[in-house]
Amino acid sequence: MKTQQQHPAQFSFELFPPRTPEGIAKLPNLAAQLAVLQPKYFSVTYGAGGSDQDGTYDTVVSVVEKTGVEAAPHLTCVGSTRAKISALLQRYKAAGVKRIVALRGDMPATSYGTGARADFHYANELVQFIRETEGDVFHLEVAAYPEMHPQASSPAADFASFKRKVEAGADAAITQYFFNPEAYFDFVERCERAQLKLPVIPGIMPIVNHAQLTRFSAACGADIPRWIALRLEQLKDDKAALQDFGVEVVTRLCETLLKAGAPGIHFYTLNQVEPTLRLWKNLGLPMPLAAAV
Ligand SMILES: Cc1cc2nc3c(=O)[nH]c(=O)nc-3n(C[C@H](O)[C@H](O)[C@H](O)COP(=O)(O)OP(=O)(O)OC[C@H]3O[C@@H](n4cnc5c(N)ncnc54)[C@H](O)[C@@H]3O)c2cc1C
Repeated sequence: MKTQQQHPAQFSFELFPPRTPEGIAKLPNLAAQLAVLQPKYFSVTYGAGGSDQDGTYDTVVSVVEKTGVEAAPHLTCVGSTRAKISALLQRYKAAGVKRIVALRGDMPATSYGTGARADFHYANELVQFIRETEGDVFHLEVAAYPEMHPQASSPAADFASFKRKVEAGADAAITQYFFNPEAYFDFVERCERAQLKLPVIPGIMPIVNHAQLTRFSAACGADIPRWIALRLEQLKDDKAALQDFGVEVVTRLCETLLKAGAPGIHFYTLNQVEPTLRLWKNLGLPMPLAAAV
């Protein structure tokens, strides 16, 4: 893990654009509570669960206004056109955005293979387009899949796709969540062998809800090790006990990663303060008094 240790540790928090009036009302406070932990940046998803690009834009702007912490929109390209992506980049640039999470995204099943007009098919094309049109204006993060993207034909083909994104100009990568640290270490070793020198930040999913985690993991190809799955199944009707177990497991995972030199953690917060805060506290990360649980 030598390459990774060269990168200064950075912690970031992922949010999604709230869709309900309650979620919208809660967002400023949620962001303010997480901002006390002084993350490097917030990232704001796009598309997942039906959010639109305005939702992402509005959330980015509101989080920066409320907290003063940098916010990075996720930008997905599949099914979009150069003109649309370019307009969005100008809008983000005008709002002072300096960091983008550049993704392919998932097309609705009905649109796949229909031949709908689209200038982009894979994330490396988006990275290349942003570099060609905007130079180094944006710091670009891309997605990495230590356990392989579920649609890839093989680990080697998936790694070749990742390499293309890096060669197109990605600055850093955030991984899909995983519970097997060995998968991350193996991925980082493959990066080292391929001379890819960017930081690969582990994306960490807190365990808060059995059904949700099972659903997400099936969709994104994240393996839940058998011993964890069995314990979660057993605890599924006792929310507090399940969450205590989840905090223990995920804390140990983060400790293992950080000790081995992982260059930080990207927390999938699920727009909840407490799961991330509990992990943060357990890990002994700097804990200003205002954020104490
Ligand atoms: C950190 C993170 C944040 C995310 N945020 C969002 C979000 O906000 N909104 C959202 O909708 N989704 C999000 N996703 C999910 C992501 O959009 C999906 O996993 C999507 O299916 C792949 O996106 P990608 O950018 O990794 O695609 P790519 O890197 O383009 O890879 C997609 C698949 O295509 C293959 N591939 C790539 N290039 C080629 C090629 N030239 N030829 C053949 N195969 C190729 C890859 O191996 C892989 O299987 C996120 C994922 C991560 C890890």
